[in-house]
Amino acid sequence: DTLTQPAIAFDNSYARLPARFYARVDPDPAPAPRLIAWNAALASELDLPDLAEATIAAVFSGAALPPGAEPLAMAYAGHQFGGFVPQLGDGRAHLLGEVIARDGQRMDIQLKGSGRTPFSRGGDGRAWIGPVLREYVVSEAMAALGVPTTRALAAVETGAPVWREQGQLPGAVITRVAQSHLRVGTFQFFAARRDTEALQALCDYAITRHFPQASGPADLLRHAVAAQADLVAHWMSFGFIHGVMNTDNCHIGGLTIDYGPCAFMDAYHPDTVFSSIDSHGRYAYANQPQLAVWNLAQLATCLLPLMQDDQEAAIAEATEIVHGFAPLYEAAHRSRFAAKLGLAEARAGDDALAQTLLDRMATLGADFTRTFQGLRHGTAKAEFREPEAFTAWETDWLARLEAEGSTPADAQARMARANPAVIPRNHRVEQAIEAALQGDYAPFQRLNRVLATPFADPAPEDAALQDAPLPTERVRATF
Ligand code: AMP
Ligand code: MG
Ligand code: MG
Repeated sequence: DTLTQPAIAFDNSYARLPARFYARVDPDPAPAPRLIAWNAALASELDLPDLAEATIAAVFSGAALPPGAEPLAMAYAGHQFGGFVPQLGDGRAHLLGEVIARDGQRMDIQLKGSGRTPFSRGGDGRAWIGPVLREYVVSEAMAALGVPTTRALAAVETGAPVWREQGQLPGAVITRVAQSHLRVGTFQFFAARRDTEALQALCDYAITRHFPQASGPADLLRHAVAAQADLVAHWMSFGFIHGVMNTDNCHIGGLTIDYGPCAFMDAYHPDTVFSSIDSHGRYAYANQPQLAVWNLAQLATCLLPLMQDDQEAAIAEATEIVHGFAPLYEAAHRSRFAAKLGLAEARAGDDALAQTLLDRMATLGADFTRTFQGLRHGTAKAEFREPEAFTAWETDWLARLEAEGSTPADAQARMARANPAVIPRNHRVEQAIEAALQGDYAPFQRLNRVLATPFADPAPEDAALQDAPLPTERVRATF
């Protein structure tokens, strides 16, 4: 019947890898699936057939397995807050399989929150609606901002309760779509077992899926380093803090993956941390580039056995590649911040110009997104407790724009593409989750709608989504 037999054209390359790459396990059937959100635009990009709402709810909660799906939980390891755990793996996620998108790209379709797997350890395999809605909103906002990321295809309430510290909460499943779910931790899983054969298969597989032009393990590393350098510079340019940059959350292809305690900063400060579990600030905003390097060094270590036979030479080569992060990151960061200032090209001295603004923002509690957006509209000054600190900087900035001969219109156009008008502010995400707990999904839907065009000034009725939180609205910790 059409309810349980939707014609999704799965082609499951990961399931064809050696059995030790994963555990075959079916999702737990959701008892009473109810659709929260369906990303029709993404479904169309994926060339999925038209599906009835009940079918969507059944398939993307695990209640019904579509033909061709071969559910599996991926094996991986990882450094969590610097400590190595040789086995993590998908403890609450099921890769249904892969489809080929309209543009030819192979994409994973994965349920998250869909029940226990052999990798669940003490966990219940579940998610409640809070993290599901957060991931849906934030990952789709990141995609609309142009940041490489996993996507959200669907969110479904399961009808089964989930127990957390707060008590009993409604369970939900999010369907995550990505070019792959390969992490640094996937390589670490096999490296820790000295399974060079599996490492070679994984390396070949990662090259096929992400960097078909790469010539071998060293070149894979080179591409992964470049992709992460671009990614983290992109995060920094929007004030995004990932929150859990463990190696198992570091994507080989340079996608943002695992939206847990992530957040966009309101007031700018380089030491900002939101994650409730990051008590030492390891994954603070300003630490993100160094953490990416640290993660990539772990990848490099994994790849050594596949590199040249002369291991000393391999170490020297891998070290040089990882050290390549810094100049790539600095160049990407410089050009992103130059665009935020409306500059046509980055020149010597521009780092200092951007840094001076950021320093004053930090000292004077200026809102990150509103300040950069305000450069466009001439309202940035209002974000500073001491407006003279801004106007002094503004004089230098305007002189720099004039020196390159940029017209205000050109500068405006560049800033309009680099400085979002609206971001998924933490307090708005929290409010949407609170409302959903009361059965009202309208605030969640509104966030999705407005964040689909984050660089456009929102309609007057949505302008409040641009506001920084009131002191009473401020969210200090995310989970
Ligand atoms: P994360 O902190 O989200 O990167 O997850 C780290 C590890 O914990 C991964 O192996 C997850 O699959 C696992 N995990 C997280 N939450 C749960 C859960 N509720 N049940 C089972 N495993 C989980
Ligand atoms: Mg994770
Ligand atoms: Mg997570």
